[in-house]
Amino acid sequence: MDRAEIFGWLCEMQEGHLEELWKRADSVRSAMVGDEVHLRGLIEISNYCVRQCRYCGINACSSGITRYRMTREEIISSVGEAARFGYGSVVMQSGEDPGLTKDFVSSLIREIKDTTELAITLSFGERSDDELRAWKEAGANRYLLRFETSDPVLYDRIHPSFPGKLSNRFAQLERMRDMGYEIGTGVMVGIPGQSWETLAQDIDTFRYYDMDMIGVGPFLPSPHTPLGGHGASDFYLEPGRQVPNDELTTLKVVALTRLVCPEANIPSTTALATIDPASGRELGLSRGANVVMPNVTPPQYRVLYEIYPGKACIHETALVCRDCLERRIASIGRVLGKGPGGRKNSG
Ligand code: SAM
Repeated sequence: MDRAEIFGWLCEMQEGHLEELWKRADSVRSAMVGDEVHLRGLIEISNYCVRQCRYCGINACSSGITRYRMTREEIISSVGEAARFGYGSVVMQSGEDPGLTKDFVSSLIREIKDTTELAITLSFGERSDDELRAWKEAGANRYLLRFETSDPVLYDRIHPSFPGKLSNRFAQLERMRDMGYEIGTGVMVGIPGQSWETLAQDIDTFRYYDMDMIGVGPFLPSPHTPLGGHGASDFYLEPGRQVPNDELTTLKVVALTRLVCPEANIPSTTALATIDPASGRELGLSRGANVVMPNVTPPQYRVLYEIYPGKACIHETALVCRDCLERRIASIGRVLGKGPGGRKNSG
C-alpha cells in the first residue's frame, strides 16, 4: 500500500467501502499476531514534567494541578498487582521528570526483574543516552516515545524544544533500537494543524521505521493548554484540510497501521475508549489492535495524571479495570495473551 492509497482510505467515507478496510485489517491482525490480546499494566509513576507540550494537561506550565511522584514502595506494590492479575508486562509512564533519576529507575528495574517475570516498558519522554543505556542494562525491554506528528513544522509548534537543544524523537528512537530496546511510537489523530497529507505521512513513517509498537489515539483538548483552551482556534487548518479528532478517523489509522506494519503490537488506546466508552476498545481490537493497557496506578494518583479531561477508567480500581477488559475481550471472541507478548516473542 503506497502513500496515495493510505491517503485515499483516510478520506474514504462510504461505510460499504470501509467494511473492506476493516476486514483486511482484522484478517492481517489474525494472521500475523493471532487472536491473543496482550495486557500491559500501566503505572503512571509521576506527573512532574519539564516540557511545555502545547497539547498535554500535565505540561510544565499547567497551573493548578497537584504534582506527585510515586514512592518506590508504591510502584513495587502496583507492579505486584499487575503480576498477580496475570499481566505479562508493565508500562511505567511519567511526564519528563528529572526527579526519576538514572539510579532510582535502574534499581527499580532490577528489583522488578529479580522478583517477577514481567517485561518492562518505559515511557519517560526524552532522556539522555546515558540514562537509556543504564536502564536497558538494568533489564528494561521496551521504550515508548510517540513522535506525535511527522511534520517537523507542526511538531515544533506543538512540542517546543529546550533552548539550544533540538528535540529529535526519531533520533532517540533509532538510538534506543541500537541499544536493544523494542521501540514504540505513535501519533495523536486530529491535532490542531494536522492535515490529511500529514496523517498519511505519519502512517508511512511507522512503516519506514518498522516500529515494534504503535499507539494512536484521538487528540482530546485539555482546557488549560494552548491547544485546548481559548485561542486554540488559531492552530486549526481550514475545514476540509484539518483532520477531525473523531473515532472513525482514529479507527482508520489503526486499521491502516496494521496493514503497513503487520507484525507490530498495536494497542486499542484509552483515548479511543474515552471518546467511545461503550465500544471504543472493542472496535479498536476488531480493526487491527492486539494490545490493551489496563491502568494499575493507585486511584489517588490516577486522577492527577490528567493529560486530557474525562479519561476512561479514571475512577476504577485496578481489579474493576481488569474484569471489565477481560469481559470486553471475551465478548468479541478473542483470548487473553500469555507471557510478555513482545514482537515475535522477543521478550
Ligand atoms: N512524557 C512522556 C512523553 O512525552 O512521551 C510520556 C507521557 S505523555 C503524557 C504520553 C502521551 O500522551 C503523549 O505521547 C501524547 O501523545 C499523549 N497525549 C498528551 N496529551 C494528549 C491529549 N490532549 N490528547 C490525547 N493524547 C495526549
